[in-house]
Amino acid sequence: MCVFDNSEYDGHEQVLFCRDEDAGLFAIIAIHDTTLGPAAGGCRMWPYASVDDAVTDVLRLSQAMSYKNALADLSLGGGKSVIIGDPNKDKNEKLLTSFARFVQRLGGQYYTAEDIGIGIDDVEVLAKASDYVFGLATTGDPSPFTACGCFEGIRAAIKHKLGRDSLEGVKVAVQGVGNVGRYVCKNLNEAGAELIVADVDAEAVAFAIENFGAKAVTPDRIYAQDVDIFSPCAMGGVLNDDTIRQLKTSIVAGVANNQLAEARHGRMLHNKGILYAPDYVINAGGMLNASGDIFGQYDVNQVMERMKGLYDATLRIFEMARQEGRPANEVADDLARQKIAAGRALKD
Ligand code: NAD
Repeated sequence: MCVFDNSEYDGHEQVLFCRDEDAGLFAIIAIHDTTLGPAAGGCRMWPYASVDDAVTDVLRLSQAMSYKNALADLSLGGGKSVIIGDPNKDKNEKLLTSFARFVQRLGGQYYTAEDIGIGIDDVEVLAKASDYVFGLATTGDPSPFTACGCFEGIRAAIKHKLGRDSLEGVKVAVQGVGNVGRYVCKNLNEAGAELIVADVDAEAVAFAIENFGAKAVTPDRIYAQDVDIFSPCAMGGVLNDDTIRQLKTSIVAGVANNQLAEARHGRMLHNKGILYAPDYVINAGGMLNASGDIFGQYDVNQVMERMKGLYDATLRIFEMARQEGRPANEVADDLARQKIAAGRALKD
């Protein structure tokens, strides 16, 4: 299928197909919008079933980065890249270096970083062949920062939906207790929340049980838990016709990117009386932290200050959504588009 015919194509500025047979590289870089600054967003390595699946993913992820960066008040546009392959089998220095050279050739239009399948060590390899890499040792692991921002989003959600300031005794079902999910559990546990977790990785589940007093259920049962909050912290697309029907929660708030299988699922949640915290709003913490590498200045205290701002930013979106009787994801999308349009008007 042609990229322009893909339902996720949203006027992206540039989509680059990167092929290096010698290095075994097949990657796609999508630059969604550079109005507010150079496009920035991580690189995902995943064994996509087809090139079309990879294109769809990179188009959606890069658009979300434009919106995330705009609403986080970062002078950055949105971009993302995907490498087609199994990170456990196909990833090596030659492949990463080849990918980094493609990024370098874009001359700073796109900055790359870690994402699923590309870890912090890999980012250091990329940085040897490209000046346009962020999320380096200077700013460190983004996961605790992403979790911290998500915690602020969850606090805003319980304030708005349940009229509560405290998480004491609030029941949360966490899907995925990987790098970020386990910090989400840590923060929630320290705040007195009761946790139910699910992960396909038994070790990750055992860690959450041992360290955060979590109860565990099998991955297929996590949606139907009777909880106050469902927190998707694993893969995207998990909020769909089938799973939304199972939900017994009043709030969905987690870190996974692109949680809604389709935008209409935001309305489906809304019609069911479930408050959905837009993923790219509350998972911006890692980006707020790692972007210090792009701007050449990093102050962890400033980052934490901005992170706390995600509470007010999320609450404002919920309040606008209530006033307008609309799903919060639609309000957030509109706000992000308006910000980008205002930036464009200033340039013209
Ligand atoms: P990760 O790979 O470390 O963790 C994901 C976890 O989900 C793993 O433990 C995995 O076993 C589990 N999982 C996979 N499929 C599952 C299923 N069907 N049911 C239950 N568990 C399942 O990834 P991460 O870095 O923690 O990121 C998690 C999500 O947050 C991703 O969607 C990522 O794009 C998003 N995100 C991450 C960051 C960051 O700072 N790392 C920032 C923004 C958004």
